[in-house]
Amino acid sequence: MSGAKDKGLKGLGAKYGSTLRKKYGMIFTTLKMKRKCPNCGSWKLKRKSKGIWECRSCSLVIAGRAYDIAPTPISSG
Ligand SMILES: [Zn+2]
Repeated sequence: MSGAKDKGLKGLGAKYGSTLRKKYGMIFTTLKMKRKCPNCGSWKLKRKSKGIWECRSCSLVIAGRAYDIAPTPISSG
């Protein structure tokens, strides 16, 4: 009489792919985007300060958010 012992070792192959996606460039891209001036139509709209955008062509001042502009121009002067 022979007793057979079956040892079944079941190894769980844990495969996990780690994909790190950084959404870091979103704000940076928004800042680098060119703004079109709603007044003269030129692309010389630059961020004067935080929330203030100024057109280098017609000196139009637009108050917007910190990293984006609002479509509502304010009358300067
Ligand atoms: Zn302009």
